[in-house]
Amino acid sequence: MQASLISVFDIFKIGVGPSSSHTVGPMVAARRFRRSLAAAIPSGECHLRVELFGSLAATGRGHRTDDAICAGLLGLDSAESPMEEIWRAAAGIQEQGGFDIEGLRVGFDPGRDILWSKSPPSGMRLAHPNTLCFAADQNGIPRLVVTARSVGGGFVEYDDVEAPSHPPAETVPYPFDSATELVGVCAIHGINPVKVALANESARGFTEEQIRARLTEIWEVMNVSMDEGLSTEGMLPGGLQVERRAPRLYRQSRSDRLPLERHADLRTSAFAMAVAEQNACGGRVVTAPTNGSAGVLPAVLREVCYERDLGITEIQNGLLIAGVMAAIVKCGASISGAEVGCQGEIGVSAAMAAAAATGMLGGHVRQMEDAAEIAIEHHLGLTCDPVRGLVQIPCIERNAMGAIKALNAAAMALASDGTHVVSLDRALRVMKQTGMDLQDKYRETATGGLAVG
Ligand code: SF4
Repeated sequence: MQASLISVFDIFKIGVGPSSSHTVGPMVAARRFRRSLAAAIPSGECHLRVELFGSLAATGRGHRTDDAICAGLLGLDSAESPMEEIWRAAAGIQEQGGFDIEGLRVGFDPGRDILWSKSPPSGMRLAHPNTLCFAADQNGIPRLVVTARSVGGGFVEYDDVEAPSHPPAETVPYPFDSATELVGVCAIHGINPVKVALANESARGFTEEQIRARLTEIWEVMNVSMDEGLSTEGMLPGGLQVERRAPRLYRQSRSDRLPLERHADLRTSAFAMAVAEQNACGGRVVTAPTNGSAGVLPAVLREVCYERDLGITEIQNGLLIAGVMAAIVKCGASISGAEVGCQGEIGVSAAMAAAAATGMLGGHVRQMEDAAEIAIEHHLGLTCDPVRGLVQIPCIERNAMGAIKALNAAAMALASDGTHVVSLDRALRVMKQTGMDLQDKYRETATGGLAVG
């Protein structure tokens, strides 16, 4: 799909932690499968099995993929359903030995019927490392089989057809499919990426007022996750003995006893880690572009507002710029840690945030593109190696580092006229190739790097 056809509201999904590809995406796929199953077998009884492959099988337990699938099978929604219901779904299905969809009884034992298949059967080639297969049968006779790919950021694909939650506009007033084309569109029409994004979103039938209201809702979810993370102490779940640090770092950022004059850096780090710690606890966050990297953009937006006393309009504009950048990366490279490593998550979130901060601080489109390129260039090669498959180490601190790099990239771009040697599009091509060159053990399988070292 062309980048300009991706809605910013598909980039920014309100979901539950800890992972957009391993939690939000499988939940979306399971919810859709529930609807398909009800249509295929309206009544009677059937039996369901769900098979997880590749990275989903390798790190799905740490990422709560099984819980998310059960929640989706019950028709729960990651953005709107109460969190207690989402995280109780698996236990409820287990107790009942299955679930009902109106007149249909679905036999399903999560402990037995979710299969964790790290290697696909011989002859089966995975189109994406995050592949899952739903198979319903009646008396051993297959009735409905659906294979889905959770391709990062909560996006789910089926047989080369993407199924976005917001129907793509067939045409948009300002089409682009790369950063170079975006810069060209802005130059030709004398507009900036905010105007481009607003006009293209309007082609989906929304007024500017509606678009801005929805962006405000997204910002509020980001803010709530940040505030809750800044005020919640204790241990993170999963047994790694990782303590929540955001509240302490935030307090220390306001202390005049800080050994170095790094108050702003520590404050930004605390903002980013607050969201990442909420995500690690299965809290509600916004994909930006993923859950694992959800802390970078909110932290940078809040820090920029903090420093410059900017308001909600600038935040909305920052979200639009960041959304456009993420769409370009999604089409030109990848936003999936299982596909290209952490460069596709923290690297991309830093690029989004760098471009957004540059735009919010008055930079023009070439400076935004420069800022995004600087941020991505200095995350190239970053591997994904979460310890014990949990989105905690190195993920939480990595959000802080991504946010600091994003602010530095924005400052460097704003200090220049936007002229630079390596284009963002070239950096994205390199990112994609580097990701393909990474061994599987460095792509969200928890079998290399920090995960085993
Ligand atoms: S290491 Fe990066 S890509 Fe991997 S799970 Fe953590 S945040 Fe996501």
